[in-house]
Amino acid sequence: MTRRITVKSPAALNKSSLRMCQFLMPLQLPIIILFILILLGSTSGALAQARITPRVLDPEAELSAILLGTGVPIPNPSRATACTAILVGERVFLVDTGRNCIVPLDQAGIRDINGVFYTHYHSDHFIGLGEILLNFAIAGVDHSIPVRGPVGAQEVVDGIVATYRLDLEYRLAHHGDKFSAAVMKPTVTEHSPGVIFDEQGLKVTMFNVCHQPIEPAVGYRFEYAGKTVVVSGDTNVCPEFAEGARGADLLISEVENAAMFNAATALARSANNSRQVAMIEEGVAYHAESLALARMAQEVGVKKLALTHLFPSIAPTDQAEAQFIRGMSDLYTGPIIVGRDGMEVAP
Ligand SMILES: [Zn+2]
Ligand SMILES: [Zn+2]
Repeated sequence: MTRRITVKSPAALNKSSLRMCQFLMPLQLPIIILFILILLGSTSGALAQARITPRVLDPEAELSAILLGTGVPIPNPSRATACTAILVGERVFLVDTGRNCIVPLDQAGIRDINGVFYTHYHSDHFIGLGEILLNFAIAGVDHSIPVRGPVGAQEVVDGIVATYRLDLEYRLAHHGDKFSAAVMKPTVTEHSPGVIFDEQGLKVTMFNVCHQPIEPAVGYRFEYAGKTVVVSGDTNVCPEFAEGARGADLLISEVENAAMFNAATALARSANNSRQVAMIEEGVAYHAESLALARMAQEVGVKKLALTHLFPSIAPTDQAEAQFIRGMSDLYTGPIIVGRDGMEVAP
C-alpha cells in the first residue's frame, strides 16, 4: 500500500461561515453574514486559494492518524464529516466514514483499508461508506471490508448495501468481474464495550461515551508498539469519556466552542425564532465544550490533544482556529492541534 500524505495549507475561503447562515435562517441574512464574518475574524482570507502541499509519511511513526473529516453536518467545502484514519504499521483502519471522506482519503493515497470502526449512527459518521466502497470496487480491491461497531452497524451497512443494489447490478453487467462485488458487501460485527480487536500487536478497546439521547455511542482506544491513540466519537465531557482517554499519548477529540454560539442564540432570540434557539441549544448540549475538554485532558494525563468534529464548522485559517481554542492552553499544558482535513497527527 502506497501512502502519499497531503496536508492542506490554510485553505480557501470562509464559506463555512456563510454556511452557518443556513443553520440560522430565517434570520436576516445580511446581519447574520456580517456577524459570522466578525465572529471568525476571517474576511481577509475570503478569496484565498486552496493549496495542497504533498509530503511523505513519517516512516518512524508506528501508530499515527490522519484527520480525514473534521467537520459537522453543516456543509463546509473545506471539511468532510467525521472520518479518521488510524495507521498501524502497514495497516489502515477508519473510525467513521463521514460525508465526502473519500476525497481526503484518496488524496492521502489510501487505496485499501483493513477495517472500519463506527462510534455511533448519526449519519454524518457513516454516510460516506458507499462512496468509499464504490471507489475501492472500481480500483479492484477484491475483498470484503470488516466493519465493527456497537449495535446498529448491521442495520446501517445493510441499508447502504441495499441502496447500491441497482448500481452494483449495472456495473457488474457493464464491467464484469473487473468490478469488485466483494468489496461492496462489508462483513459486519457488532460489539459491546471492552476489547473488541487484538491482532498483530494492535489492541482496540471500545468504551461508552456520553452523547445522550444517542445510544449506543462509543469511543476507541488503539494501543500499539507502546503508544495509545484514543478517538472520542461524539460526546460530552463526562467520567466515561475521561476514563477512556486516560493516559493517552494522543487524544483525537470532538470539540465545540459553545461561546461562539452565544451571539447567534441572542440574535435568534431577538428575532423571536424559538425554533432556532432550541436547535442551537440542543446542538450545543451533547458535544464536548472546549474548556471542559481541556480541563479533562489535563486531569487524565493526555499527552497531546488533536481536535476534530469542530462545531461551529470554522474555516481552516490560523485566525479562526486561534479564536476557537481560546482559553484551552490555560487549562491544558500539552500540545493542542486544531484539525484540518488531510492532516496527519502522531503521538
Ligand atoms: Zn457527529
Ligand atoms: Zn453524533
